[in-house]
Amino acid sequence: MPRRSPEERVKDFDEVALGFTEEQALREAERCLQCPNPTCVSGCPAQIDVKAFIAYIRKGDFEAAVRKIREKNSLPGVCGRVCPQETQCEAACILNRKGAAVNIGGLERFAADYALTRNLQVADRAEGNGLTVAVIGSGPSGLTVAGDLARLGYDVTVFEALHEYGGVLTYGIPEFRLPKRVVKAEIDSIARMGVRFQKDVIVGKTVTVEELFEEGFKAIFIGTGAGPPLFLNVPGENLNGVYTANEFLTRCNLMKAYLFDIYDTPIYVGGEVIVVGGGNVAVDAARVAMRAGGRRVTILYRRTREEMPARVEEVRNAEEEGVRFMFLTNPVKFTGHNGWVRCVECLKMRLGSPDESGRPRPIPVRGSNFAVNTDTVIIAIGRKPNPTVTQTTPRLKTLESGLIHTDSQGRTSIKEVWAGGDVVTGEATVISAIGAGKTAAESIHNYFTRILKRKGVKR
Ligand SMILES: Cc1cc2nc3c(=O)[nH]c(=O)nc-3n(C[C@H](O)[C@H](O)[C@H](O)COP(=O)(O)OP(=O)(O)OC[C@H]3O[C@@H](n4cnc5c(N)ncnc54)[C@H](O)[C@@H]3O)c2cc1C
Repeated sequence: MPRRSPEERVKDFDEVALGFTEEQALREAERCLQCPNPTCVSGCPAQIDVKAFIAYIRKGDFEAAVRKIREKNSLPGVCGRVCPQETQCEAACILNRKGAAVNIGGLERFAADYALTRNLQVADRAEGNGLTVAVIGSGPSGLTVAGDLARLGYDVTVFEALHEYGGVLTYGIPEFRLPKRVVKAEIDSIARMGVRFQKDVIVGKTVTVEELFEEGFKAIFIGTGAGPPLFLNVPGENLNGVYTANEFLTRCNLMKAYLFDIYDTPIYVGGEVIVVGGGNVAVDAARVAMRAGGRRVTILYRRTREEMPARVEEVRNAEEEGVRFMFLTNPVKFTGHNGWVRCVECLKMRLGSPDESGRPRPIPVRGSNFAVNTDTVIIAIGRKPNPTVTQTTPRLKTLESGLIHTDSQGRTSIKEVWAGGDVVTGEATVISAIGAGKTAAESIHNYFTRILKRKGVKR
């Protein structure tokens, strides 16, 4: 897929990958073997009928292609851009064995953009069934529950704590990877199916779960994601110039620091930037820092490149844009001058036997301390589940980590309350949050179908 040159794109926040033209999409779709037993579908947590939607693209029927995708996924423009396809559908593509897999993500994006640019409403809604459902959180898990249940005729209201919808898609992932207009257009499409959205409502503070039931909601889905950042807990972490990635990316995205020529909400970025972490969040923060004025941006990661959880494509993009990497390195102390960070003391690491995550454990090399000069540090080492709902809903069973306990259908310890996404699994991916939303929506629908059947209500 064509991308803008690193020299050009690093100066702005416009999208890096440009998407397929119609001709390119047709050519890519032609590569699909249309296997009798397609393996790509089993690689997709949303179970998108990849073979069928690519067949429509091959025929030049792009609207039918996006309709096919939207049967299973309310957020194709999002997934086509940020899903780690290389470990999912594309990993399972048969062509992968001999060469390059079909660019399934690129084709999904193409079909979604075709509908978005023409403002086509490609999702239908069944006749209303009078059942009301509250969805807490407007990230990909909540949006999926809302879209799937609206399609089945439920009356859904989404409650969002912030002043913008979309969860991490809006306040975390930067504009150059996922434009906010794409997220907004897909949310608008869900709203056009009759889903109501209420922002600035913190469930657990503005209204409790119990009160939502008293208001008449028959089922509740909790998709509140992961929020509060994890800290390194090393000396000097509270110096000026040390950010968490949460704060840094939220300021850029929600407070519009990325539109620095229009908004008076800039973010301070010094010349020498250190980012700590190895996931998508660290890579995003580093690339935002490059664009926001960082002269030299270095990611410190305690394992090696092979263990980095970030998307391969985005690591490559970051490198092309000039981001440097220091592997097997971990900060142990920050020192400063006049209250501002000036230096990071690091330890070299080596890899040991696998830990509970299955990856080799990083082990500090004693006496290997060395110093790196810096004036901005961004810590991107993970986030904890958002606690407001769990703390104010005593009957809701949680794990020691604060994650909500559910069964495989997304059912929680409270009858008629389901949960899914990062608040259940811990930080994961957009497509796993979508998968959890689909499972919960199906479980909610099965539950009410059984009850109505028992009462003899015909539908
Ligand atoms: C910077 C960054 C980059 C990422 N890049 C990728 C990527 O490239 N590919 C990928 O697959 N994944 C990526 N991820 C991970 C992915 O975005 C998450 O796994 C996914 O968004 C989780 O979805 P969710 O619905 O569980 O929660 P979230 O997206 O976190 O949404 C939860 C929503 O609930 C709201 N909320 C919380 N508490 C309350 C409350 N009490 N009342 C009302 N609303 C509440 C929050 O404000 C938020 O809007 C990235 C994450 C980050 C932070």
